[in-house]
Amino acid sequence: MENELYYGEDYKRIPATSIESGTGTEVLPDLYCYTVQIVNIVLVGHPASKEFVLVDAGMPYSAEKIISAIEERFGPDSRPKAIILTHGHFDHVGAIIELVKRWNVPVYAHELELPYLTGKTCYTDPDPTVEGGMVSKMSPMFPVDPINLGNHVKPLPSDGSVPHMTNFRWIHTPGHSPGHVSFFRDKDKALIAGDAFVTVKQEYLYKVFTQEQEISGPPRYLTPDWAASQESVKKLEALKPSFAITGHGMPMEGKLLTDSLRKLVDEFETIAVPEYGKFVDGNEN
Ligand SMILES: [Zn+2]
Ligand SMILES: [Zn+2]
Repeated sequence: MENELYYGEDYKRIPATSIESGTGTEVLPDLYCYTVQIVNIVLVGHPASKEFVLVDAGMPYSAEKIISAIEERFGPDSRPKAIILTHGHFDHVGAIIELVKRWNVPVYAHELELPYLTGKTCYTDPDPTVEGGMVSKMSPMFPVDPINLGNHVKPLPSDGSVPHMTNFRWIHTPGHSPGHVSFFRDKDKALIAGDAFVTVKQEYLYKVFTQEQEISGPPRYLTPDWAASQESVKKLEALKPSFAITGHGMPMEGKLLTDSLRKLVDEFETIAVPEYGKFVDGNEN
């Protein structure tokens, strides 16, 4: 059965990193954000309980780094109960095949994301012409072919619950990808946003490197539906999260988060939507 698991043909190592790569932040006692090159993974669960899930699966060829971050936090030979995906872009599933083979745990994603995770559909090609910096320019090298997780990947439950993430619910936040989801816990207003919005200008290589904190819409070179993305940001802002871990950039909390999200909603057209690019000028939508 393992032979059915594979990455797309365009799978490759991406030469981009940040000063935070290899470091982790405990946002809450049961919420840990760890940076792999330029993307974050999240470990949800208290270290004392040894029960946790992994949200997203890092960059290509990062399995060993993810395993050592997990074992450092939860002890040798720890394995998550499940891997839960915000979406299936290459930088969120980069190590997932090695991890699934090692741990033999289920993967959950929104049902609209499943075609990209079961070898059926390619993502839209990134837009190197979009307004933005070097990361946008290098985006044609980013893998878009579907990976295949076969029957290891399952749809998230339709009742909004998240397997093994008690008290969290998933929220459909499309725009950046059709089946993009974020995770929210009402009791402490903790949000795992994925790429619905991010806290770094992900298009600019030097800002990615320094991780300078600045609220931003989803990464521009890979966001085909700006109208849906705007609705998703509004939905998340309305929850008034107290803590947010985003797919890219450092975690943000408190007043800075509240004010930044408000500003992103109010000024979405200027902050998030690019001035030009194929997803705003052309017919692709
Ligand atoms: Zn993405
Ligand atoms: Zn991403």
